[in-house]
Amino acid sequence: MLYVQKFGGSSVANAERVFNVARRIADTYWKGNQVVAVLSAQGDTTDQLIQKANEINPNPSKRELDMLMSTGEQQSVALMAMALQKLGLNAVSLTGRQIGLRSSSTHGAAHIRSIDPERIYSELERNNIVIAAGFQGVNRYDDITTLGRGGSDTTAVALAAVLEADFCEIYTDVDGIYTADPHVVKTARKLDEISYDEMLELASLGAKVLATRSVELAKKYQVPLVVRSSMSDAEGTIVKEEAKVESTYISGLAMDKNVASISIIGIRNEPGMAYKMFSLLAKRKIIVDIILQSIGRGATKDIAFTVTKNDLPLAVKLLTDNRTKLGFEDISYDDRIVKVSVVGAGMASHPGVASMLFEALYAGGVNIMMISTSEIKISVLIDEREAEAAANMVHDRFFTGSAAIDARR
Ligand code: ASP
Ligand code: MG
Repeated sequence: MLYVQKFGGSSVANAERVFNVARRIADTYWKGNQVVAVLSAQGDTTDQLIQKANEINPNPSKRELDMLMSTGEQQSVALMAMALQKLGLNAVSLTGRQIGLRSSSTHGAAHIRSIDPERIYSELERNNIVIAAGFQGVNRYDDITTLGRGGSDTTAVALAAVLEADFCEIYTDVDGIYTADPHVVKTARKLDEISYDEMLELASLGAKVLATRSVELAKKYQVPLVVRSSMSDAEGTIVKEEAKVESTYISGLAMDKNVASISIIGIRNEPGMAYKMFSLLAKRKIIVDIILQSIGRGATKDIAFTVTKNDLPLAVKLLTDNRTKLGFEDISYDDRIVKVSVVGAGMASHPGVASMLFEALYAGGVNIMMISTSEIKISVLIDEREAEAAANMVHDRFFTGSAAIDARR
């Protein structure tokens, strides 16, 4: 069998943990399997490298930043190969370029274009364990690129797809995917399985266990994933096409603090206004999420929408600069808000989920500012001061006590 095993930064943070992982890789190998391990940089090395760059130049070129950041993964793969060699195994570390990972040119957010696995195959044939650097590749100019934060997950899934691995295991510091962030919701519990679609929603709604793009790739190439802990033998969570639907209709709850809302008051009630506003933002690559438009009253209407907190200043500036051209009366914004979402494939066929969510928030006296829904998720925007309490109340409503039993009927 061929295993792709990915280990996150916390799993290889120090020498002891490197050996802990090395033993796990060795175990898999000794059972007669081939292993390609993909590693992240140790601990918070990537953050430290970014900080180092900022000390030299607060606005470093993205090419040089990629050159610098990619060294984090190179350190961890070299150290892991040394650890395995110490255990008496043949292991070889490889960079992104050596695993044949070609990417688009966008430094800091490159997309994988192709992987040429020739080198990996020849190492495996020689009975070597392959330790591949995650998060990095090279573009068509042969310059080093990185795949965006958390990108080692993407490297691992892409490799598993190309190599047609039998297993793709993502090892991290939690023992799987939880119904909510256990740091916030104490009663959160581990899921046995979850579908790609649900995981995609959760990842893009703020759950950080898996990089969003890695889940997209897993779905596209039907890579069977398992997310589990490198520190225990607990079973983990399987991510696959069709997971069993939770008896509660909901698989998980996510909280995203990186949101801000903008309200445009008194915009002309005529065709083309939304187009003019949002194309202005799109040209500057500002991603707009929830959009709410009021019913026009006579000559004017209002439009409110959300962007990420980082995009807020630019979005407000663009709109304010074009106020006369767009012809609106007023603009306001709020960055002290949080998006709380519930996700579950079961809600597509069960109409009561939205009202259970609203009821839980009402019972807690939480005011909803905006609502957005898709087939398998409902998001609400609320005051950030109420976020943690709201997350707990909503989670309790769906997962614990009489409420959960209610929903199961
Ligand atoms: N080391 C990179 C990061 O911190 C990539 C990864 O961990 O997956 O974002
Ligand atoms: Mg990660």
